[in-house]
Amino acid sequence: HNDACEYPPHPGKMNWSVLYPGHTDPVVRFLDVGCGFGGLTVALSALFPDKIILALEIRAKVCEFVRLRIEEMRKEAPPRARNAAVLKTNAMKYLPHFFRKGQLQKIFFCFPDPHFKTKNHRRRIVSERLLTEYAYLLQEGGILYAITDVEELHQWHVAKLSEHLSFERVPEETLAGDVTVTAITRETEESKKVERAGGRKYWCVFRRRPDAVVI
Ligand code: SAM
Repeated sequence: HNDACEYPPHPGKMNWSVLYPGHTDPVVRFLDVGCGFGGLTVALSALFPDKIILALEIRAKVCEFVRLRIEEMRKEAPPRARNAAVLKTNAMKYLPHFFRKGQLQKIFFCFPDPHFKTKNHRRRIVSERLLTEYAYLLQEGGILYAITDVEELHQWHVAKLSEHLSFERVPEETLAGDVTVTAITRETEESKKVERAGGRKYWCVFRRRPDAVVI
Protein backbone atom coordinates (compact mmCIF):
# COMPACT_ATOMS: atom_id res chain seq x y z
CA HIS A 1 0.00 0.00 0.00
CA ASN A 2 0.90 3.62 -0.44
CA ASP A 3 2.63 4.60 2.78
CA ALA A 4 2.67 8.34 2.11
CA CYS A 5 0.76 9.82 5.01
CA GLU A 6 0.08 13.38 5.92
CA TYR A 7 0.45 14.37 9.53
CA PRO A 8 0.69 17.61 11.46
CA PRO A 9 4.04 18.73 12.94
CA HIS A 10 2.44 18.50 16.40
CA PRO A 11 -1.07 17.97 17.87
CA GLY A 12 -1.70 21.71 18.23
CA LYS A 13 -1.60 22.09 14.45
CA MET A 14 -4.36 19.58 13.79
CA ASN A 15 -7.74 21.01 12.76
CA TRP A 16 -10.13 18.50 14.32
CA SER A 17 -13.25 20.62 13.75
CA VAL A 18 -13.10 19.70 10.05
CA LEU A 19 -13.46 16.01 10.95
CA TYR A 20 -16.22 16.54 13.53
CA PRO A 21 -18.56 19.25 12.23
CA GLY A 22 -20.86 20.58 14.91
CA HIS A 23 -18.32 20.00 17.67
CA THR A 24 -16.38 22.93 19.00
CA ASP A 25 -12.85 21.89 19.93
CA PRO A 26 -13.36 18.10 19.69
CA VAL A 27 -10.83 16.00 21.60
CA VAL A 28 -10.38 12.40 20.44
CA ARG A 29 -10.87 9.99 23.36
CA PHE A 30 -11.31 6.60 21.65
CA LEU A 31 -8.91 5.33 18.98
CA ASP A 32 -9.70 2.39 16.67
CA VAL A 33 -6.30 1.43 15.26
CA GLY A 34 -6.36 -0.34 11.87
CA CYS A 35 -10.11 0.10 11.64
CA GLY A 36 -10.62 -1.78 8.36
CA PHE A 37 -14.19 -1.16 7.20
CA GLY A 38 -15.10 0.74 10.35
CA GLY A 39 -17.66 -1.52 12.04
CA LEU A 40 -16.24 -0.95 15.52
CA THR A 41 -16.00 2.82 15.20
CA VAL A 42 -19.58 3.05 13.97
CA ALA A 43 -20.81 0.81 16.80
CA LEU A 44 -18.87 2.80 19.41
CA SER A 45 -20.26 6.09 18.10
CA ALA A 46 -23.78 4.88 18.99
CA LEU A 47 -22.74 3.28 22.31
CA PHE A 48 -20.78 6.36 23.43
CA PRO A 49 -22.52 9.40 21.92
CA ASP A 50 -20.56 11.78 24.16
CA LYS A 51 -17.13 10.52 23.09
CA ILE A 52 -15.12 11.66 20.09
CA ILE A 53 -14.01 8.53 18.26
CA LEU A 54 -11.31 8.28 15.62
CA ALA A 55 -10.59 5.36 13.31
CA LEU A 56 -7.12 5.00 11.76
CA GLU A 57 -6.47 3.07 8.59
CA ILE A 58 -3.37 2.88 6.41
CA ARG A 59 -5.06 1.71 3.17
CA ALA A 60 -6.37 4.73 1.24
CA LYS A 61 -9.28 2.93 -0.41
CA VAL A 62 -10.45 1.35 2.83
CA CYS A 63 -10.15 4.70 4.57
CA GLU A 64 -12.25 6.32 1.85
CA PHE A 65 -14.89 3.59 2.26
CA VAL A 66 -15.16 4.37 5.99
CA ARG A 67 -15.25 8.11 5.33
CA LEU A 68 -18.21 7.68 2.95
CA ARG A 69 -19.88 5.27 5.36
CA ILE A 70 -19.74 7.90 8.12
CA GLU A 71 -20.80 10.66 5.73
CA GLU A 72 -23.93 8.68 4.78
CA MET A 73 -24.81 8.04 8.42
CA ARG A 74 -24.56 11.75 9.15
CA LYS A 75 -27.20 12.45 6.46
CA GLU A 76 -29.76 10.25 8.18
CA ALA A 77 -32.59 11.71 10.25
CA PRO A 78 -31.68 11.93 13.02
CA PRO A 79 -28.01 12.08 12.03
CA ARG A 80 -25.71 9.34 13.31
CA ALA A 81 -21.92 9.07 13.68
CA ARG A 82 -21.32 12.79 14.12
CA ASN A 83 -18.83 11.85 16.85
CA ALA A 84 -16.92 9.46 14.55
CA ALA A 85 -14.31 10.10 11.89
CA VAL A 86 -11.53 8.32 10.02
CA LEU A 87 -7.98 9.30 9.11
CA LYS A 88 -5.53 7.66 6.76
CA THR A 89 -2.28 7.25 8.59
CA ASN A 90 0.38 4.80 9.66
CA ALA A 91 -0.46 4.26 13.33
CA MET A 92 2.99 2.76 13.94
CA LYS A 93 4.71 6.01 13.01
CA TYR A 94 2.73 9.16 13.66
CA LEU A 95 0.47 8.90 16.71
CA PRO A 96 2.32 11.53 18.82
CA HIS A 97 1.86 14.00 15.96
CA PHE A 98 -1.91 13.76 16.43
CA PHE A 99 -2.50 13.24 20.14
CA ARG A 100 -1.30 14.74 23.38
CA LYS A 101 -0.01 12.94 26.44
CA GLY A 102 -2.85 11.35 28.41
CA GLN A 103 -5.66 12.38 26.09
CA LEU A 104 -6.93 8.93 25.07
CA GLN A 105 -9.36 6.94 27.22
CA LYS A 106 -9.60 3.80 25.09
CA ILE A 107 -7.42 2.35 22.35
CA PHE A 108 -8.48 -0.63 20.22
CA PHE A 109 -6.48 -3.21 18.29
CA CYS A 110 -9.00 -5.44 16.55
CA PHE A 111 -7.68 -8.33 14.50
CA PRO A 112 -4.34 -6.67 13.70
CA ASP A 113 -2.19 -8.20 10.97
CA PRO A 114 -0.46 -11.22 12.58
CA HIS A 115 2.96 -11.04 10.83
CA PHE A 116 3.56 -14.71 11.51
CA LYS A 117 7.25 -15.03 10.64
CA THR A 118 9.72 -14.31 13.44
CA LYS A 119 11.66 -11.85 11.26
CA ASN A 120 8.41 -9.88 10.82
CA HIS A 121 7.48 -9.73 14.51
CA ARG A 122 8.98 -6.24 14.67
CA ARG A 123 6.12 -5.13 12.39
CA ARG A 124 3.50 -6.11 14.94
CA ILE A 125 1.42 -3.18 16.13
CA VAL A 126 1.71 -4.34 19.73
CA SER A 127 5.38 -4.24 20.69
CA GLU A 128 7.41 -3.08 23.67
CA ARG A 129 8.36 0.19 21.97
CA LEU A 130 4.87 1.00 20.73
CA LEU A 131 3.28 0.07 24.06
CA THR A 132 5.37 2.82 25.63
CA GLU A 133 3.90 5.20 23.07
CA TYR A 134 0.34 3.99 23.70
CA ALA A 135 0.91 4.34 27.47
CA TYR A 136 2.07 7.92 26.92
CA LEU A 137 -1.09 8.77 24.97
CA LEU A 138 -3.52 6.99 27.31
CA GLN A 139 -4.74 8.72 30.43
CA GLU A 140 -4.02 7.00 33.74
CA GLY A 141 -6.63 4.25 34.07
CA GLY A 142 -7.24 4.33 30.29
CA ILE A 143 -7.99 1.00 28.65
CA LEU A 144 -6.32 -0.95 25.83
CA TYR A 145 -8.29 -3.69 24.05
CA ALA A 146 -6.72 -6.34 21.82
CA ILE A 147 -8.58 -9.08 19.96
CA THR A 148 -7.43 -11.63 17.40
CA ASP A 149 -8.33 -15.04 16.02
CA VAL A 150 -4.66 -16.06 16.01
CA GLU A 151 -3.90 -17.77 19.30
CA GLU A 152 -0.14 -17.22 19.03
CA LEU A 153 -0.66 -13.49 18.44
CA HIS A 154 -2.99 -13.32 21.44
CA GLN A 155 -0.28 -14.90 23.59
CA TRP A 156 2.14 -12.30 22.22
CA HIS A 157 -0.28 -9.49 23.17
CA VAL A 158 -0.71 -10.83 26.70
CA ALA A 159 3.04 -11.37 27.12
CA LYS A 160 4.09 -7.92 25.85
CA LEU A 161 1.40 -6.12 27.84
CA SER A 162 2.04 -8.11 31.04
CA GLU A 163 5.78 -7.39 30.84
CA HIS A 164 5.22 -3.68 30.31
CA LEU A 165 5.41 -1.63 33.52
CA SER A 166 2.73 0.83 32.38
CA PHE A 167 -0.02 -1.77 31.95
CA GLU A 168 -1.94 -4.17 34.16
CA ARG A 169 -4.48 -6.75 33.04
CA VAL A 170 -8.15 -6.18 33.74
CA PRO A 171 -9.43 -9.54 35.01
CA GLU A 172 -11.89 -11.18 32.61
CA GLU A 173 -14.48 -11.78 35.33
CA THR A 174 -14.81 -8.03 35.95
CA LEU A 175 -15.66 -7.54 32.26
CA ALA A 176 -18.77 -9.73 32.07
CA GLY A 177 -21.44 -7.85 30.12
CA ASP A 178 -19.05 -5.01 29.24
CA VAL A 179 -20.56 -3.34 26.15
CA THR A 180 -17.13 -2.47 24.80
CA VAL A 181 -15.97 -6.08 24.94
CA THR A 182 -19.19 -7.13 23.21
CA ALA A 183 -18.45 -4.53 20.52
CA ILE A 184 -14.90 -5.77 19.83
CA THR A 185 -16.04 -9.40 19.69
CA ARG A 186 -19.12 -8.83 17.47
CA GLU A 187 -19.06 -5.51 15.60
CA THR A 188 -15.86 -5.45 13.57
CA GLU A 189 -16.01 -6.88 10.04
CA GLU A 190 -13.18 -9.26 10.86
CA SER A 191 -14.94 -10.53 14.00
CA LYS A 192 -18.05 -11.26 11.90
CA LYS A 193 -15.92 -13.13 9.36
CA VAL A 194 -14.36 -15.25 12.11
CA GLU A 195 -17.83 -15.87 13.55
CA ARG A 196 -19.18 -17.08 10.19
CA ALA A 197 -16.18 -19.39 9.77
CA GLY A 198 -16.78 -20.82 13.25
CA GLY A 199 -13.35 -19.63 14.42
CA ARG A 200 -12.27 -18.69 17.94
CA LYS A 201 -11.61 -15.17 19.12
CA TYR A 202 -9.09 -14.33 21.81
CA TRP A 203 -9.17 -10.97 23.55
CA CYS A 204 -7.51 -9.21 26.45
CA VAL A 205 -8.04 -5.91 28.20
CA PHE A 206 -5.28 -3.94 29.95
CA ARG A 207 -5.39 -0.79 32.04
CA ARG A 208 -2.88 2.05 31.87
CA ARG A 209 -1.35 2.14 35.34
CA PRO A 210 -0.96 5.44 37.12
CA ASP A 211 2.58 6.75 36.71
CA ALA A 212 4.70 5.69 39.65
CA VAL A 213 5.72 8.49 41.96
CA VAL A 214 9.48 8.29 42.39
CA ILE A 215 10.76 9.71 45.66
N1 SAM B 1 -10.04 -3.81 12.81
C1 SAM B 1 -10.72 -4.24 11.59
C2 SAM B 1 -11.63 -5.40 11.89
O1 SAM B 1 -11.49 -6.00 12.97
O2 SAM B 1 -12.48 -5.71 11.05
C3 SAM B 1 -9.74 -4.57 10.48
C4 SAM B 1 -8.80 -5.72 10.71
S1 SAM B 1 -7.66 -5.96 9.33
C5 SAM B 1 -7.19 -7.63 9.47
C6 SAM B 1 -6.22 -5.03 9.85
C7 SAM B 1 -6.30 -3.60 9.33
O3 SAM B 1 -5.22 -2.83 9.88
C8 SAM B 1 -6.18 -3.49 7.83
O4 SAM B 1 -7.27 -2.75 7.31
C9 SAM B 1 -4.85 -2.76 7.60
O5 SAM B 1 -4.83 -1.97 6.45
C10 SAM B 1 -4.73 -1.95 8.87
N2 SAM B 1 -3.35 -1.58 9.24
C11 SAM B 1 -2.27 -2.38 9.21
N3 SAM B 1 -1.18 -1.72 9.62
C12 SAM B 1 -1.58 -0.46 9.92
C13 SAM B 1 -0.89 0.71 10.38
N4 SAM B 1 0.43 0.68 10.62
N5 SAM B 1 -1.61 1.83 10.57
C14 SAM B 1 -2.93 1.86 10.33
N6 SAM B 1 -3.63 0.79 9.89
C15 SAM B 1 -2.96 -0.36 9.68
